[in-house]
Amino acid sequence: MKLLDGTATALKIKGELKAEVEAMIQRGERRPHLAAVLIGDNGASLTYVGAKVKACEELGFESSLITRPSSATEEEVLEIVNQLNNDSKIDGYIVQLPLPKHINEQNVLLAIDPKKDVDGFHPENVGRMALNLPTFLPATPYGIIQLLEYNGVETEGKHCVVVGRSNIVGLPVSILLQRNTNPGNCTVTITHSRTKNLAEFIKSADIVIAALGKPEFITSEMIKDGAVVVDVGITRIADSSRKSGYRIAGDVKFDEVAPKCSFITPVPGGVGPMTIVSLMKNTLLARKQSV
Ligand code: NDP
Repeated sequence: MKLLDGTATALKIKGELKAEVEAMIQRGERRPHLAAVLIGDNGASLTYVGAKVKACEELGFESSLITRPSSATEEEVLEIVNQLNNDSKIDGYIVQLPLPKHINEQNVLLAIDPKKDVDGFHPENVGRMALNLPTFLPATPYGIIQLLEYNGVETEGKHCVVVGRSNIVGLPVSILLQRNTNPGNCTVTITHSRTKNLAEFIKSADIVIAALGKPEFITSEMIKDGAVVVDVGITRIADSSRKSGYRIAGDVKFDEVAPKCSFITPVPGGVGPMTIVSLMKNTLLARKQSV
């Protein structure tokens, strides 16, 4: 069993990005600039946005954090989006999800300029991804693809079972893995909460992408010997023995599943760091395209 070490792989990619930014600065060019919009005080969102701002500092990017209380109206958020669209100093930006319930996420995502949509959530960019045209790939699926690529995991002709069909993980990773690319060329089965005989589908997979958000749902008897297992799940579980008061659990029962796998991601330290570095890669791309 080999660990698909997201922290180490992300570090390698960060080194490449940092070198590119330094070369840009040497040429007298402007640094990439990522903005993040955070509405409310959701604990996980605060952590994710904090990690993105920290990654910008590490790589020599500029960052701007725009925060508003959870009482902010949809109009106020749309006004921030409009300002960011028109700010030539901002190369790319993200609106951290989830938004408070009274704000329509689709309205906000549709208002983002696709050229600055470094999360790759705008329908125009999703369409470009589906058609294999150049675009910003959504950060988590892009991170998974790069994790497989950098670690030499073969995907061609493999049966990949994706558990979960969300717009930000399950659906886009399914699209990316079936494309005629490398990594790609998988035969993909996408499963969800209404799938019958889910365990049988998972058991038939050469590659399992677990993105359902149910801690330790996938157990060893569901996994074929030699499978590649990518665990996207991040759930906070109360744990009074920790200073933070919680621990992070993935969707896979790592200890019992790992011995059966050819490759497996840990949680934390798997897909999480790859997501952040992929967002940074998209921001650098947006910077290059804005010249
Ligand atoms: P969503 O809740 O949006 O989607 C979950 C998907 O899983 C849905 O399609 C749902 O089916 C399906 N599902 C739920 N329960 C079952 C079940 N028992 N059997 C089969 N399918 C099921 O979650 P996200 O895609 O946003 O996130 C998934 C997980 O990944 C979460 O733990 C999240 O925290 C984590 N995550 C991690 C990231 C990282 O960087 N590592 C980034 C983004 C997310 P249905 O459509 O029928 O409801």
